[in-house]
Amino acid sequence: MKILIINAGSSSLKYQLIDIQDESVIAKGLVERIGIAGSKLTHKYGDKSFELSVPMKDHTEAMGHVLDALMDKEHGVIESIAEIGAVGHRVLHGGEKITQSTVIDDYVMDVIEEYIPLGPLHNPANLMGIRACKAVMPYTPMVAVFDTAFHQTMPPKAYLYGIPRKYYTNLGIRRYGFHGTSHRYIAGEITKKLNREHSKVVICHLGNGSSLSACIDGKCADTSMGLTPLEGVLMGTRSGSLDPAVVQFISERENMTATQVVNMLNKQSGLLALSERSSDMRDVYSGAEEGDEKCRETLDVWAYGVKKYVGAYAAAMGGLDAIVFTAGIGENDWRSRASVCEGLEFLGVELDDAKNKALRGKEGLISSDTSKVQVWVIPTNEELAIARDTLALTTK
Ligand code: ADP
Repeated sequence: MKILIINAGSSSLKYQLIDIQDESVIAKGLVERIGIAGSKLTHKYGDKSFELSVPMKDHTEAMGHVLDALMDKEHGVIESIAEIGAVGHRVLHGGEKITQSTVIDDYVMDVIEEYIPLGPLHNPANLMGIRACKAVMPYTPMVAVFDTAFHQTMPPKAYLYGIPRKYYTNLGIRRYGFHGTSHRYIAGEITKKLNREHSKVVICHLGNGSSLSACIDGKCADTSMGLTPLEGVLMGTRSGSLDPAVVQFISERENMTATQVVNMLNKQSGLLALSERSSDMRDVYSGAEEGDEKCRETLDVWAYGVKKYVGAYAAAMGGLDAIVFTAGIGENDWRSRASVCEGLEFLGVELDDAKNKALRGKEGLISSDTSKVQVWVIPTNEELAIARDTLALTTK
């Protein structure tokens, strides 16, 4: 069976066609600038690719071009829509109502709509993606996989903020957490590797957006992102956690609205702001190597912040069996992994420097043979996790 994975953004649409028998990617691509001048589709299959630049006024038109690309006479990988057995949609926010992946029906559409205030950029785009797919492939079963779902096992002590309860009860303000599909995929993989009944694991998803989770027996006990993806560690352009009074202070001094300040904290902060150079970790390292003091300091702030979460989660779980690094920085950058683990010997964390340095973009154990805590690099695969759920739910 072939499964189509859709990740719709406000003006973009990423897709992958996966053969679920051998879990291989048959084709994938990206539509950019939907509804804006310069719409473009980039389609890849095998080691070939092609681009199509035509106006696409909305997601339904974009989906039409995606299907055309998949069925193209010259470049196509399938002959008819009927070959696509099911579609899996990545959806941001399911609030407290959705705790696992689910077949899309009217109720699920209503829930995605209901949580638009908590996912104002993503949930409307996700809905557009689902509606566009339904318009062009009305008979294909569809599944929604939520970024927040994995974190719904957190206990109240981990998700409640210390503010008046009415904000939780009336407005739903609490920690939700994000990157859940990645954390769940990694939790499943590490649980298989540890092969023991009980486990305490810290998962470090470190990319442009970063989040950590504490997982007990494969279930989420705590996570670093909060009501929105702004909370937690320093990210590419997000500040991560700070004293909320900063918002008011900047707002008054700079004559900015709260919305403008939060926008700045999301888009103009993080590595970009502290290094005054780039939001990309590679550039920050290059800067530090050239002797740029701001870049060196930025790397220190980043690693110190991630390390504090690892320590906090070890304390919260009352132990630590494994640390897993994943996503762009976690999978590719040995220096970042080394700086996070440095000084954690007291917790039983001992890296094998040679193994750590040698490992890039693939799976492997990077702790020493004597390390009490196993340290792993496991590449995340959110699309595959979505495809597996989609298969399980549509072939029940
Ligand atoms: P996203 O959160 O957008 O999915 P990724 O998980 O792809 O992001 O991570 C992107 C980040 O990974 C880049 O911003 C870059 O800083 C970092 N990265 C990728 N490769 C390397 C590398 N070899 N060394 C250091 N950082 C890297």
